[in-house]
Amino acid sequence: MRIVVLAGGIGGARFLRGLKQAVGPEADITVIGNTGDDIHLFGLKVCPDLDTVMYTLGGGIHEEQGWGRSDESFAVKEELKAYGVGPEWFGLGDRDFATHIVRTQMLGAGYPLSAVTEALCDRWQPGVRLLPMSDDRVETHVLINQDGEKKAVHFQEFWVKLHATVPAEAIIPVGAESAAPAPGVLEAIAAADVIILPPSNPVVSVGTILAVPGIRAAVAKAAAPVVGLSPIIGGAPVRGMADKVLAAVGVETSAAGVALHYGGRAAGPDGTAGTGLLDGWLVDTSDAAAVAGVESAGIVCRAVPLWMTDVDTSAEMARAALALAEEVRRA
Ligand code: GDP
Ligand code: CA
Repeated sequence: MRIVVLAGGIGGARFLRGLKQAVGPEADITVIGNTGDDIHLFGLKVCPDLDTVMYTLGGGIHEEQGWGRSDESFAVKEELKAYGVGPEWFGLGDRDFATHIVRTQMLGAGYPLSAVTEALCDRWQPGVRLLPMSDDRVETHVLINQDGEKKAVHFQEFWVKLHATVPAEAIIPVGAESAAPAPGVLEAIAAADVIILPPSNPVVSVGTILAVPGIRAAVAKAAAPVVGLSPIIGGAPVRGMADKVLAAVGVETSAAGVALHYGGRAAGPDGTAGTGLLDGWLVDTSDAAAVAGVESAGIVCRAVPLWMTDVDTSAEMARAALALAEEVRRA
C-alpha cells in the first residue's frame, strides 16, 4: 500500500512513527515535509521540520522535547555566545550542528534540497521516503502587530523568540507562489492508495505545503481517499500555539473548524459539490459532539482517541485513519 503523508514537525513525526508500526515494513510511505520553517542561522541552512521527522523516525530525537537530538551538548552555542554571535533564542546543539553543516555544504556544491535530504536519510534510515515539499526557498513570515507597529518577522522569530505572544495578523509563505513541488511530490500524490493529513499544524505546516502551486490541486483530484486527524482537541492545540496562527487566518480553534478549513471533497448531503480536500476526518472522543457538523460538510467523521501519548496510541490512531480511508474509498 502506497501512503502519502503531508507532515510538519512534532505532530507529523509522532504520527508517522505510529503509522510505521501500524502498517509494518512492507508499506511504502512517502512523507511530503514542510520547509516553510527553514531558516539560515550562522551561515547554515536549518530545516527544522524535515529534521524532526528524520530524527524521530531514525531514533535520534530528543524524546521529551520532541525536536533536536538526543544526548545533545551545547559547546558550539556557548562558544558563539562568547563571541557575541547570536541569535541565542534558537537552540542548536552540537550534534544537530553537524546535520546543518552537511546540508549547507551539499547545497553549496549544487545539490537540490531533495537530494541533500535523501543523503541525510541514508544515515538515519527513517523507513519512509522523505521529500521536501519543494527544492525552492519558501519562508513563512508572520505579520505581527507589536504595540501598534506592524512588521513581518520570520516564523521562527514569532514562534521561538516571541512564543507567539504578539498578535499575528497574517501568515505569508514568502516565495511559495513561485516555488515548484520537489521531484516526486506530485507523482507520489497521484500514485497514492491513501493520503493522510496527520495532526500537524493546519496553517504553518500543512497549509504551507498546500501553498506550493500544484500540490493542493493534486491532493484535491487524487484517486486515493484523503483523511485527516485533528491537531485540536477540546478547542485547544495539544501542544504548541496553533490557535494563534488559526486566528490569524480566521479559522476557529476547534476540531470542526480545522476540518471545514480543509474542506470536503465530496458533495455535501445538501447536494453542493465540495471544493476542499477531505473525504474523512478524525476528531478526539472528547469532541464527539463535533461529528455531525463535520459530516454536514460532506466529510465522513469519526471520534476516536487522538492523544499520541506513546507509539502504541499513535499506531492505534494510524489504524483508525486507514480504516476510515477504506470506508470512504470511492468505488
Ligand atoms: P511542528 O512543526 O513541530 O509544530 O509540528 P506539526 O505541525 O507537525 O504539529 C503541530 C501540531 O501537532 C499542533 O497543532 C498540536 O496540536 C498537534 N499535536 C501534537 N501532539 C498531538 C497529539 O498527541 N494529538 C493530536 N491530536 N495532536 C497533537
Ligand atoms: Ca514546524
